[in-house]
Amino acid sequence: MKQTVNLTCPVCNQEVEWSITTRLNTRENPNLKKDLLAGKLFDFECPVCGAKRQLETTFLYHDPDKKLMIFLIPNYQSRQEEIEALLDQMASQEGVDIHDYQLRLVLHSTDLIEKVTLFDWGLSDQEIEIVKVLTDGLFAQEFPGKLVHNRFFYIKDKTPKILYITEDDQLLVDFHDSLLEFANSKFNKAIVDQHQGQFMVINQAWALNALDKKNTLKDETIEAE
Ligand SMILES: [Zn+2]
Repeated sequence: MKQTVNLTCPVCNQEVEWSITTRLNTRENPNLKKDLLAGKLFDFECPVCGAKRQLETTFLYHDPDKKLMIFLIPNYQSRQEEIEALLDQMASQEGVDIHDYQLRLVLHSTDLIEKVTLFDWGLSDQEIEIVKVLTDGLFAQEFPGKLVHNRFFYIKDKTPKILYITEDDQLLVDFHDSLLEFANSKFNKAIVDQHQGQFMVINQAWALNALDKKNTLKDETIEAE
C-alpha cells in the first residue's frame, strides 16, 4: 500500500511530494518484496535536486503463509507509550487474527531485510541472534581490534554468512552449522518459545539476555549440587 506524503529534501530543503510504501503483503505484492530485498523499497530521489536518500519510515511486512508480521518503527524507543496501540492498529488493518502470529518489531530497514531473509531461509531470528553472539568470539579471534558496529545474517552465493559491519569495513564470516546446533541444544528453551501473538524485539540484547539467563541457571545448579 502506498501513501503520498510531503517531505523536506535534506539536501535542497524543498518540500516535495513523495509516494511511500507503508505495508507489504507477500501474497499480494511479490514485486514489492523483491524491491525490499534489493534494498530499493525505501529509496527517495528528490524530484527537484536529484539527491538520493534512504527513507526511514513506518512500515509493516506481512507474510500470511508464515504467519509473520514485522513492524518497522524507526523511533519506537521514544514512543513507548503509544507503541502497543499503534502496533495493534497496524496489525488489525491486515484483517487477520494475530494470536498465532510471530510479531516482530525492528528499528531499521536493514534489520527488516535481515529478518525476511532468515525466515525465508527456514531459520528463526531467535536462533540467529544467538548464533551471532557465538560467532562474535570467532570474529574477535580472526580480526582482533576491529570495532563491530553491526552484524547481519546474509546470503552470499546461496550460502548463509554473517556480515560484520565495522568502523571501516564490511567482512563476511562463515555461518557455522555447528553453532546453530549448539544454540539449539544449549539454548533450546529460549529458541522454542515463539512468543506467538506478542510484539517482540529479538535483537542482540535479547540474545545476550537469553545467554545470561542460561548461565545464571547453570551457576545455580552448580551451587545446588
Ligand atoms: Zn532536493
